[in-house]
Amino acid sequence: MTRRAELAARLEAVEQQIAQACAAAGRERDEITLVAITKTYPASDVALLADLGVTDVGENRHPEARDKLEEFEQLLPAGAAPPRMHFVGGLQTNKAGAVARYADVVHSVDRPKLARSLARGAEAAGRVLDCLVQIDFGGDDAGRAGVLPEGVDDLADLIAASDSLRLRGVMTVAPLGQDPEPHFAHLAEIAERIRTRHETADIISAGMSGDFAAAVRHGATHLRIGRSILGERPPLQ
Ligand SMILES: *Cc1c(COP(=O)(O)O)cnc(C)c1O
Repeated sequence: MTRRAELAARLEAVEQQIAQACAAAGRERDEITLVAITKTYPASDVALLADLGVTDVGENRHPEARDKLEEFEQLLPAGAAPPRMHFVGGLQTNKAGAVARYADVVHSVDRPKLARSLARGAEAAGRVLDCLVQIDFGGDDAGRAGVLPEGVDDLADLIAASDSLRLRGVMTVAPLGQDPEPHFAHLAEIAERIRTRHETADIISAGMSGDFAAAVRHGATHLRIGRSILGERPPLQ
């Protein structure tokens, strides 16, 4: 089987599961954006996915994301639009300026210092960057990415107040080994509260290969799916 046929089959299976989850939740498929997480996979896979109709891809590391985007742009037929690039990984402040130049959406804004660095980078690039507040529902298990629920409002307000950032909503990675349902329910509550304060904040980014049906039940607008589409990654993450 060619790589194209393999990706097409996997993508179709995922699309069927998304359709089922939408039907069960009484939601429309077009309320949801599938972000294919292409980390560790080559630009040629991004090109195949784009050709199969995938409009949004996600990456979690800075040099890899930039290099893949540049390489991918060489593969594009003239005039074709590249997929939207979502940056979903933990981000060091000293790389924020670079990411602010090419990312369309940063899902992982989790501290004021990072928000300020992204704002400076976006301003220098003459862009307005879409940002999500990443929330950590893992409790006091230190060192995890994300702001705790009680810190979300202040960080959201800081992003919304910046001329070069646009607050688009919230994101979470469900804590490993726990039932994601209560966390996704809590995320939906916070998302609704943030949206009443900031009308541009209409994104709920939740759901990965293992838990996207639960995320659909709880109002996710963006599913970040990697392994189910591209295959298992080598253990390195
Ligand atoms: C890798 C990754 C995903 C995709 O996870 P899969 O289990 O491969 O679907 C989603 N979100 C983030 C933040 C990731 O780093």
